[in-house]
Amino acid sequence: MPRRSKRQAEKEEEEAKKSKLSDGWKMSWEEAGGAKIKGVAPLLVYDGEDALKSSVVAGFDMDGTIIKTKSGRRFPTGPSDWVFWDDAVIKKLRDLHSNNTKIVFFTNQAGIEKKNTSVSSITSKIEDILETLGFPVTVLVCTGHNHYRKPSIRLWEYFAEHCNDGGEIDLQRSVFVGDAAGRSKDWKPGMKKDFSCTDRMFAANIGVPFHTPEEFFLDEPKATKYEWRAADPGKLLAASVSSPRDMSHITKKAPPTEMIVLVGSPASGKSTFAERHLKPHGYVIVNRDTLGTMAKCEKAAAKALEDGQSVVVDNTNPDPASRAKFIQIATKHSVPVRCVELTTPRDVASHLNYFRAILTDGKRRRIPDVAFNSFRSKYKAPSAGEGFDEVIKVEFVPEFHGHNKTRARELFAHWQSG
Ligand SMILES: [Mg+2]
Repeated sequence: MPRRSKRQAEKEEEEAKKSKLSDGWKMSWEEAGGAKIKGVAPLLVYDGEDALKSSVVAGFDMDGTIIKTKSGRRFPTGPSDWVFWDDAVIKKLRDLHSNNTKIVFFTNQAGIEKKNTSVSSITSKIEDILETLGFPVTVLVCTGHNHYRKPSIRLWEYFAEHCNDGGEIDLQRSVFVGDAAGRSKDWKPGMKKDFSCTDRMFAANIGVPFHTPEEFFLDEPKATKYEWRAADPGKLLAASVSSPRDMSHITKKAPPTEMIVLVGSPASGKSTFAERHLKPHGYVIVNRDTLGTMAKCEKAAAKALEDGQSVVVDNTNPDPASRAKFIQIATKHSVPVRCVELTTPRDVASHLNYFRAILTDGKRRRIPDVAFNSFRSKYKAPSAGEGFDEVIKVEFVPEFHGHNKTRARELFAHWQSG
């Protein structure tokens, strides 16, 4: 039966690969990073006792930094579609290695989670690269859009904790090299702009000096034309507060029973706002992520009002149509209805989205771009004309208090990107 024999062949191939590795270096692949997501471990780690340990680390992105495609395409056509990025790469890496610098590859391979490529085609390619280099290198592969994805510090923290004997790392003498450097079009005459800035962000988050491949391998001058292309965490932090914000201008005006309809993009801070500022005043929180459907939200809102409790509708509520259903429910129960709009800009909401996933070790999954785009395409600013007694705008301000405020502040201070 063809299916069975194919599986058998794959198994044999796996076994052959294992024995090849154990015959050579004491290195192996490990699935890591916690529970599988869409059937794949969040992290794949190639490590072992034959990998050098050192307090000086040279970290490298892989695609577009250590290697490029042989075909010249943006994405490789298969495991063998690679060549070293430049002839200088092998020599430089060998020199570093013999000078007792630990070399580590940190690579984002979300194509695995998306099923555009397979685990074995990535791992066999990496083994080929290392065989050509001639010495074992620790490699961390992030397999999807999870909380380890560069520029997340979690990828580096995993390495520092598990792959370097847990020793102190001298950040000043270490380095990270990558081609996702935010360089603008024509950073060098005729060059395209970089597709992202995540490698530069990763280095900044770790606190190590950053170089592009051109700077590091070819000694070209520092690129000066680049943009971070994300909300500046330093600027956001400058506006942060360490105690709960005063929202009495909203809560003091509240009549005994009312409805508040929240409006705001995904990751704009609606749920935190409802939990922190309205729940303590007795508001029942109605949220589709928790209840499952809009019909259940409407039912729960009506029930709360019937019971004489105030209610807050914690959904994105982008347009008049989505808000009208709740205004009707309030009107039917003869209670006032106000709108609180969280005006968090898109780049700040993105920052919050990634930050929350990292802070919760992935328990809060990243909200995909499509949800942000859907909100943006439907969005119509709320107005009193829709039937609200009042429309109040609330600006986003980072608040750090509670049990994990130090870690939260530390992670919030990092550059975030998809
Ligand atoms: Mg790259």
